Amino acid sequence: MATLENKRVCLASRPGADGVPSIENFRVENCEVPILEEGQILVKTLCLSADPYMRCRMNLDTGTDYISPWRLDTTIDGGGVGVVVKSNNPGYRKGDILEGFHWPWQLYSGLDVQGFNCLIVNKVDVGLVRKHWSLMLGLFGLSGITAYLGIKEKGHVVPDGDQTFVVSAAAGSCGSLAGQIARLEGCSNVVGICGSDEKCSYITEELGFNHAINYKTENVVERLRECCPGGINVYFDNVGGTVSDDVIQQMTADSHIILCGQISVYNKDVPYPPPLPVETERTLEEKNITRDRFLVLNYVDKFAKAVEILCGWYRKGQIKIKETVAEGLENAPHAFVSMMSGGNIGKQIVHVSDL
Ligand code: NDP
Repeated sequence: MATLENKRVCLASRPGADGVPSIENFRVENCEVPILEEGQILVKTLCLSADPYMRCRMNLDTGTDYISPWRLDTTIDGGGVGVVVKSNNPGYRKGDILEGFHWPWQLYSGLDVQGFNCLIVNKVDVGLVRKHWSLMLGLFGLSGITAYLGIKEKGHVVPDGDQTFVVSAAAGSCGSLAGQIARLEGCSNVVGICGSDEKCSYITEELGFNHAINYKTENVVERLRECCPGGINVYFDNVGGTVSDDVIQQMTADSHIILCGQISVYNKDVPYPPPLPVETERTLEEKNITRDRFLVLNYVDKFAKAVEILCGWYRKGQIKIKETVAEGLENAPHAFVSMMSGGNIGKQIVHVSDL
């Protein structure tokens, strides 16, 4: 094999007092190509996923028990897809495409794929993704499965129930899929809240949402009254904060919140989920609104079925996807920082290399 050059992304520092992540918190550096030990495989990264939960991994205390902090000056990890370029393990062959939740942000990595402390990777169903590898990180990965199972498990969507469904971060990866799935599941009025006019146009004109609200330039309370005259029956909450307080005030009695994420507080040092203002708590109680925490990793046994259903809709053109793609591992820190401040439409991907 010709000499390979390798590089990786390390955590150089943790965010400062304001909590806002910056590209200076990361370092992209050259490194050795690992020498394979018995049982290991050498993989080349094809693409990576930039996800909001990673912001918590930049803190020494992630605030949750199911994700660990990234260590300073070591390679960071997250959702990724790659190809086996050399194998010292009989279970894997050169050319196998793999995906994993703890994929190193490194061009070439030697992975332990067996034994007690191994990295869990799965072989990608090549027929499912048809060479569009990043689908394993978006529609058929964390985002799509979260959107689908969030609605199924916590949304109480009634087919033909004439329900109004509101979603925040509506032009993002989970949000854009959640709105489309809500429509397919039978909601008659789908409203998205997001952070730019371009995003508003995207979700109404390309994805078929009934209404879009730009929370940065419009009066959210007034616009919700216009767009949801009968009140809100289901709220897919990706953001928390004042946007969600405004939505909750206009929810109907016995309605449901899918507590998916609270990105508006991820840069703040607060527990998850963060405490709500007294008035919002009172509304939840008085109107008997459910607000159970949803964590997709609690439903692993339902992933395969969810992917099958998402795939069916996608193939029939009933679900559309968009990706914002950063080119090259050196731009991975920028992709993450940009996504955290709304720079993405659809799934934020880092394209690292080709097959
Ligand atoms: P997105 O693709 O939606 O990207 C994040 C978006 O959040 C940005 O584009 C931005 O859009 C919006 N945003 C950023 N800061 C704020 C803010 N202060 N107020 C309001 N909106 C903000 O990311 P994902 O689809 O990957 O994730 C969406 C949510 O889903 C996150 O909260 C994430 O943690 C959660 N999640 C939860 C899972 C679970 O199991 N419960 C699994 C996967 C994701 P804009 O321009 O509109 O502001």
